[in-house]
Amino acid sequence: MLDPKVLESWDKEYFWHPFTQMKVYREEENLIFERAEGVYLYDIYGRKFIDAISSLWCNVHGHNHPKLNQAITDQLKKVAHTTTLGSSNIPAILLAKRLVEIAPKGLTKVFYSEDGAEAVEIAIKLAYQYWINKGKRKKIFITLSEAYHGDTIGAVSLGGIELFHGAYRDLLFNTIRLPSPYLYCKQNYQKLCDECKNDLLQMLEEILKDKAQDVVAISLEAGIQAAAGMLPFPKGFLKGVRELTKRYEVLMIVDEVATGFGRTGSMFYCEQEGITPDFMCLGKGITGGYLPLAATLTTDEVFDAFLGEFGEMKHFYHGHTYTGNNLACAVALANLEVFEEEKTLENLKPKINYLSERLQEFWELKHVGDIRQLGFMAGIELVKDRDRGEPFPYGDRTGFKVAYKCRERGVFMRPLGDVMVLMMPLVISFEDMDKVLEALFDTIKSLE
Ligand SMILES: *Cc1c(COP(=O)(O)O)cnc(C)c1O
Repeated sequence: MLDPKVLESWDKEYFWHPFTQMKVYREEENLIFERAEGVYLYDIYGRKFIDAISSLWCNVHGHNHPKLNQAITDQLKKVAHTTTLGSSNIPAILLAKRLVEIAPKGLTKVFYSEDGAEAVEIAIKLAYQYWINKGKRKKIFITLSEAYHGDTIGAVSLGGIELFHGAYRDLLFNTIRLPSPYLYCKQNYQKLCDECKNDLLQMLEEILKDKAQDVVAISLEAGIQAAAGMLPFPKGFLKGVRELTKRYEVLMIVDEVATGFGRTGSMFYCEQEGITPDFMCLGKGITGGYLPLAATLTTDEVFDAFLGEFGEMKHFYHGHTYTGNNLACAVALANLEVFEEEKTLENLKPKINYLSERLQEFWELKHVGDIRQLGFMAGIELVKDRDRGEPFPYGDRTGFKVAYKCRERGVFMRPLGDVMVLMMPLVISFEDMDKVLEALFDTIKSLE
C-alpha cells in the first residue's frame, strides 16, 4: 500500500467530497478506509471502527459478507454490464420479480436506476406523464416541509430542507407544502398523536378539495423524515394520506430509500401502515450496501397508461447507461436471500427493543434535547439548553465534534447537524450496540 501520508495529501489535493466543507476538511485529519469486515471498518493505519451509520444508511448484513461477495464474483465471471434499453439481463429480471413478490401488494412493475435521487426523479416524471397519457395536464406536486428526496433538481424541488435546497429555489418547480408532521405535532401538541395526525390530514384535504384537478401527486418519505434529523410521522398518517389521494384521484409517491430493507423493523415501512402507494422508491439498502442501485416500483394502472403503438409516443423516454446493471442486480438478489437465510428481520426485533430502552438513558444528559426513533433508525438531538430549547450555534459544529470524539472510542458516526444519527447495520451484535451507545453517551456527557 502507498504511504498513508501520501494518500492523505492526494485526498486533500484532488478529491472534492460530497456534503463537505472542503476548507475545513483540508484542515482536519480524516478517515481513509481500506477494508472492512462485518460491522468493522479499518482505516489505512489499521485502526478499527464500528460502522454506526451503515456507511451512510445502506449497509445491511455487514461488510465483506461471503455470500454477497460471491454473488458479485459469480456474476463478474459472466458479464459486468449489458444495456437494458430494449434488451435484458438475467439478474435484472430475477430481481424485478423478487421485488414485486416482497413489495406491498399491487406494486407490480420495477423501473431501475442507480441512486435514490434518481428513483425519485423517475417517480416524478412517471407521475407527470401518467396524467398526460390520460389526456390531462396537471402540474402541482404536494410535498412536506423538511422533506429530503435526494440532490438532483427534481428531487430537490420536492425537498423542503432550507439549508440544502434554498440556494436553488429559482431552478425548482413549485410545490404546495404541508408542514413537517413531527415539527407541527411538537409545536401544537408536544408529541405525536391522533389529533395532530387529523389536523394534518384535514389540511391536505382542504388543498385537494380546491386543487385536486391540478395535482399530479403527493410525495412523502416513509414514516420518518430521516435527513431532516430523524423526524417520525404520527402513526396512521401515511394511511390517511393514501385514503385521501384515492378519494381525490391524486397519485402518491412514497420514498422508502432510507426506510426500505428492514430499517424500520419490516421489509418496507408501507407494510406497517397497510398501504400500497402508486410509486415506491427504493435505494440505499437494496444491494445490502454494496453497489449503487435504485428502483421505482409502480402499479399496473400506471404501467398500462404508457402502453400504445410506437407512433403514439406514449412510452417513457427515460433511462440511464447503467439502468439494471448486472452486477448490482446480482448482489441485490443475494441481499434478499441473506434476509431469509439469516432471519435478519426476526433477529432485529429484540435489537429494536433494546435500542429503545437504552436510548431512554440519554435523557439524563443535559445537552440532549430530544430522542427520536423508528425501528432501528434513531436520532439524538443535542441542544445548548433543553429547557429553553436553545440550539448550539450552527458554526460550532457540535454534532461533528461529538462524532470525532466517538472515533477515539472506535465508533464511526456522521451526524445531521446536531442530531446524532444511529443507523447501525441490521446485523450488529448487542455487544457492539453497547459499545456504540456507551461511546456516544460518554461523549455527550463530556460536553457538560
Ligand atoms: C438518501 C436518500 C435519498 C437519496 O438517495 P441517493 O442514493 O443519495 O441519491 C432519497 N430519499 C431518502 C429518503 C433518502 O434518505
